[in-house]
Amino acid sequence: MTRRWKIRLLGTVQGIGFRPFVYRLAKRYDLDGFVLNDARGAEIEIQGDPSDVEAFFESFHSELPPLALISEENREEIPPRPERGFQIRKSEDSSDRLAFVTPDAHVCDDCLAEMRDPKDRRYRYPFINCTNCGPRFTIIRKVPYDRPNTTMDRFPLCDECRREYEDPLDRRFHAQPVACPRCGPEVWLASAEGEGLASADPIRDAAALLRRGEILAVKGLGGFHLAVEAERQEPVARLRKRKWREDKPFALMARDIETARKVVDLPAGARDLLESPARPIVLAPRRQDAPVAPAVAPALAELGVMLPYTPLHHLLLEEGPGLLVMTSGNPSAEPLAHRNESAVERLAGIADGFLLHDRPIHNPCDDSVVRWTDEGPQMVRRARGYAPRPIVPKGLPVDRSVLAVGPELKNTICVTRKGQMVCSQHLGDLTNVAAYRAFEAAVERMIDLLGVAPEAVACDLHPDYHSGRFARQKLGDLPVIEVQHHHAHLAASMVEHDLELGDRVCGVVWDGTGHGQDDLTWGGEFLLGGYRDFHRAAHTAPIALPGGDAAVRHPWRIALSALYGVGMRPEDVQLGDWLERQDPSHVRVLLQMLERGWRSPLSSGAGRLFDAAAAIIDLRSEVTDEIRYEAQAAIELEAASTGVEETSERDLLGWTFKAGVLDLRPALKDLVDLVRRGVEKEICAARFCDTAAAACAEVARSVARSGSASKVVLSGGCFLNKRLSRGVAERLRSSGLTPLVHQDLPPNDGAVSVGQAAVALAKLDSV
Ligand code: ZN
Ligand code: ZN
Ligand code: FE
Repeated sequence: MTRRWKIRLLGTVQGIGFRPFVYRLAKRYDLDGFVLNDARGAEIEIQGDPSDVEAFFESFHSELPPLALISEENREEIPPRPERGFQIRKSEDSSDRLAFVTPDAHVCDDCLAEMRDPKDRRYRYPFINCTNCGPRFTIIRKVPYDRPNTTMDRFPLCDECRREYEDPLDRRFHAQPVACPRCGPEVWLASAEGEGLASADPIRDAAALLRRGEILAVKGLGGFHLAVEAERQEPVARLRKRKWREDKPFALMARDIETARKVVDLPAGARDLLESPARPIVLAPRRQDAPVAPAVAPALAELGVMLPYTPLHHLLLEEGPGLLVMTSGNPSAEPLAHRNESAVERLAGIADGFLLHDRPIHNPCDDSVVRWTDEGPQMVRRARGYAPRPIVPKGLPVDRSVLAVGPELKNTICVTRKGQMVCSQHLGDLTNVAAYRAFEAAVERMIDLLGVAPEAVACDLHPDYHSGRFARQKLGDLPVIEVQHHHAHLAASMVEHDLELGDRVCGVVWDGTGHGQDDLTWGGEFLLGGYRDFHRAAHTAPIALPGGDAAVRHPWRIALSALYGVGMRPEDVQLGDWLERQDPSHVRVLLQMLERGWRSPLSSGAGRLFDAAAAIIDLRSEVTDEIRYEAQAAIELEAASTGVEETSERDLLGWTFKAGVLDLRPALKDLVDLVRRGVEKEICAARFCDTAAAACAEVARSVARSGSASKVVLSGGCFLNKRLSRGVAERLRSSGLTPLVHQDLPPNDGAVSVGQAAVALAKLDSV
């Protein structure tokens, strides 16, 4: 008795070997029908004996390709048809085929097993891959995702590879990057000058170099890493010195999960994340006895660890030290090096040797960073393994194509098309010339890749952002939609939580800076609004930044300014050691600047409050005096508070809320007192964070009530502070509001392009 079913699937089922998978299953159970990709997913019709079909469904779910993500499945029985055989059908309407590009994925277990099998023809081959794994986004030039459209086009398939590629029953059927030692890319070792070195086994020799404590530049999937043994202080300190990056934490790569466990605490969720096909860097609590040199991440309570994600990495870590520093191979602030020649040039003087290969990287892509928190994963930097997977908002109609060029720092761009918002990989800080060039290239590539013609471009309101200038000047006559920075944060959060076009929320957006509608610098914002519009309901009290942006690099100056603003004068009261040790003439100049308001722009950036608190507590004097990477003082403040229990209501510090202005400077004043009384630094740090959380939640509650909003979105880099974000969320929840925190998008400016695109779509929708 033959019956037939039709199955509609929505989700990620393209370019990941889905159709051959269905084909193989159908053959296994001797079923008839077809499988077809379409605009939104796939369609299967399957016919045969009901018990075979049942077995098919069972296997279908238990053996689904690892990169497939099915969001919806509908099954209905339809009348049988007189046909035999099972076919992989071409899409009926190719113009409507979604030019879908999947992110790069970790090398799968089957490929690893082959790579370790001395009898296999790909034994120890560092570019082994199959339909379930391997490079995708980093090698694709244009859609459709076919070999001639990737950087693999320069490697003609040998007969054996071709046979695998063309056989629907082979696990390499249509695996675009398929390759072997005979026909595929090669790896070689080069000297510090980039000269190729004769070597029978370049990876083994590279591993030996690492074991000797030397610094190796490794070409990977999305760019170059600088690798060095992580356990010994001397090599790590040497790398720091050569990179001029004194404090910024280095990421680690651990040979396997057991090695990773020695370094960080890994609850089940964190482990799953570490082992997921995206293989991000996972930030997790550092173990006391972690066998890691102090220079890896000074003063931080967490370490960033990842597992090997390409066959080349696996081979290198199996032969070499089991724990490596793997930091992006670029001088500080510059984007990732990704071409052999330019890497050799740019990393000269840093690397002692190069492990190179000849598979070109078309779309450079940094490692992604995800932080593990009690509430689950929190994206910090969205890049390799995640980009360019589309975001499919449920509440916002995405029927038009817009380009959003993102903010100035932590830039990403976002292109929308047919129900999807495609956010680029992290592109970096556009104040850097090389990063700006990478941004321009990314805009062009993303538009090409997706084959869209945007009808508008969205950019930040700031008149001088490089991305904004690009939007206004370089895109011909496309209409420009300017989006206020914090409004974009709010909208990005709404997208992530599937909020609808008509929804109104309270948006708490706390970050460093953003250009306000009044041309002042905003950054501690309580907004009310939705996708289309918003108003500023409340904000944190502005603090003068004597010397402008320079003050941001010197937390003690911000502390001085904040305290000055609430009437504390260093001539009247001892403010603390952090001020005593500064050059008195310098302090005098700053005080004069503050008094006259000279070169001291006001900023309501909430990030500044955390800088000031860290300076007053004087966690580490060198950081109080000058930070060495963005938000360092604030990050170390949170790190110091780790493990300190929640401050009781009675021990919270002071703050006021009047006429829409939340003033946390009284808390800073109280901190001066606590420090003077000798209260431990860790406790001071916790009290400040908890006070900020309590005040933030209280103001959010009152703003939400005034606007009849029941949902409160939390966005902005400050919410990377777990203590703050948990504290605010819990308090909001206990007063009956729904806090919505970012998870898949970073709360920092990495999310801004998505928000800009959402606002632009909403505005276009209303005209
Ligand atoms: Zn594989
Ligand atoms: Zn081959
Ligand atoms: Fe921001």
